[in-house]
Amino acid sequence: MSDIQRVAAAIKAAERILVITGAGLSADSGLPTYRGLGGLYNGVTEEGLPIEEALSGPMLRRNPALCWKYLAQLGRACLGARPNAGHEAIAQLQQLKPECWVLTQNIDGYHRQAGSPPERLIEIHGELSPLFCQSCGAESSDLVRHLAGEMPPKCHDCGGILRPPVVLFEEMLPEQAIDSLYAELRKGFDAVISVGTTASFPYIIEPVIRTRHAGGFTVEINPALTDLSPVVDVHLRGKALDVLQGLLSHISGD
Ligand SMILES: [Zn+2]
Repeated sequence: MSDIQRVAAAIKAAERILVITGAGLSADSGLPTYRGLGGLYNGVTEEGLPIEEALSGPMLRRNPALCWKYLAQLGRACLGARPNAGHEAIAQLQQLKPECWVLTQNIDGYHRQAGSPPERLIEIHGELSPLFCQSCGAESSDLVRHLAGEMPPKCHDCGGILRPPVVLFEEMLPEQAIDSLYAELRKGFDAVISVGTTASFPYIIEPVIRTRHAGGFTVEINPALTDLSPVVDVHLRGKALDVLQGLLSHISGD
């Protein structure tokens, strides 16, 4: 039995499944994602700052125009690309498996666009829209217009500075997302699939380790070796887009 057949058989038999996705999945859409932004600027902005500093909570307070310069680039990149067949394969898996959850580090909103049900989607780094006013809390959903306008974008009602509900560097993760993740982890998963993530965060590694210790099946899909590779049952080497499509055709095929 090939590795992909073995994975397909395990996923087919599983009910509770967690799919963890990271930058590698959206990279297949041609998107330079959040952490991957460093690749765009070689890690340093035009101003000579590390991208992690430009896109940080403290920078948004201190110099909103500078932070927004890079937020806007990120926003335009996300709006300019689309979910790919990998996102679609995951949404199809969720359709076949009513207890299949997605935990994503990506802020592009592509899982929802591809049809993943919002009630089984945990966006741990938040999302790009709707923008909201840091002074009065008013929401503004017209991201396209704001990205084309003056930086930083301002609130229609009070003139305060708008921001997206993303987790910037040096900011806390959204409480609701964390609560939801740990509530599902306590119920346990039969299988965990990690896709295109480098797994440098505890909330990515922990579900994999916990599931494996509890006797569940764990698989990583990534072209390269990561921190997770020695920990999972199977490492499927390849692009998320190709491997996920292949996997889904094995699962739904017979
Ligand atoms: Zn306002």
